Amino acid sequence: MDLERIPTVPTADEVMDRSLRRAASRMKEKRNRGRADREFVMAIAASLHDRLVKVIQSFPEFETLPPFYRDLAEILFGLERLRMALGGVGWAAKTTRRIGGQMSREMRTSGDTRGVRRRAVARLSSVVHRVDGDLRFLNEVRNTLRALPALREEYTVVVAGYPNVGKSSFIRLVSSAEPEVASYPFTTKGIVVGHRRTGRSGIQFVDTPGLLDRPPEERSPIERQAVAALMHAAQAVLFILDPSEMCGFPLESQLALLGAVKEMVQVPVLVAVNKADVKGMEGFLNMSTLRGEGVDAVLEALVRAGGASPRPRQGRTR
Ligand code: GDP
Repeated sequence: MDLERIPTVPTADEVMDRSLRRAASRMKEKRNRGRADREFVMAIAASLHDRLVKVIQSFPEFETLPPFYRDLAEILFGLERLRMALGGVGWAAKTTRRIGGQMSREMRTSGDTRGVRRRAVARLSSVVHRVDGDLRFLNEVRNTLRALPALREEYTVVVAGYPNVGKSSFIRLVSSAEPEVASYPFTTKGIVVGHRRTGRSGIQFVDTPGLLDRPPEERSPIERQAVAALMHAAQAVLFILDPSEMCGFPLESQLALLGAVKEMVQVPVLVAVNKADVKGMEGFLNMSTLRGEGVDAVLEALVRAGGASPRPRQGRTR
C-alpha cells in the first residue's frame, strides 16, 4: 500500500456535483422523458456509489501496515475513529444504491417522473451530506498519511544524543546520498533519514530532532508515544556523546540522557563518542565525524548490534 498515493477525498458537495454532471452528460440524447428521468436517477446513484466505494478502497488496511505506521495512525487520528468514518461512507454507498433502485422503480408507475427524479436527487444528496464530516475527516487522514516519513524495510538505526553532538554530521557522512528530511508528527524540525549500503543489504539512519535529544521529563505524552512508534521501526539506537562539551551540554547530562534512552527502548543501544579530535573517552568507540576517523568501526559495531537484535525487522510497506 502506497500511503503517498491515496487520492484526495472529495467533500459531499464535490461527490454530488461530479455525479450529477456525470449523469447529466449521459442524458443528452434521450428523447423519451420518463425513461430519461429514470436513467438519470440510476446513473447518479451508481456514480455516487462508485465514488464512495473508491474512497474506501483507496485507504490501506491498517491491520496490515507495519507497526510503526499503525502506531502513528493510532496516535494521530485514532484507528477506531477511522473505522467509523470508513463505515459511515460504506453506509452512504449502500444507501445511495438502494435509493437509486427504489426511486427508479417508482418512476415506472408514476405519471410525474420529473417530480420523483427531483425527490430522488434530494434524498441522495441528503445521504451523501450526512457523511460529509466523515469525508472531510478522511481527507485529513489522507493528508497526514502522505506526509509521514517513508521508512524502508531495512536495518534501521535511530540516532540519539543531545543537540550539536554531531548526529546529523554522522548521518551525512555515512549516507550514500544526501539524507532526506521528511515531516514527522510532533516535531517541527522533521525527521532526517539517510541510507547506506552495507554488503547485500542496507542500513537506514534516522535522526529525530526534538525527540531523542533532550531529557524525557521534557517530553509530552504524545512525544513519548511518537518515540515508541519510532522504536517499532528501529532495530538499534546509536547514542552519540560529546565529551568535549562543545555542544553546550555537560557530559553528566548527556550520560543521564543515555541512561533514560536505554530504559526507554528494548533494542540494543550502541554508544559512540564524537569529536574525538578534540576530546576522546576511554572505554568507548571514539570517532570524529569532522575528520572521518573511527566512523567505520562504529558502522561495523552497528551491523553487529543489528544481527544480535531480538526484534524482527519491521519497516514500511510503501
Ligand atoms: P547534531 O545537532 O547532533 O545533529 O549536530 P551536528 O551534526 O549539526 O554538529 C554540531 C556541530 O558540531 C557542528 O558545528 C559540527 O561541525 C560540529 N562537529 C560535528 N562533528 C564533529 C567532530 O567530530 N569534531 C568536531 N570538532 N566538531 C564536530
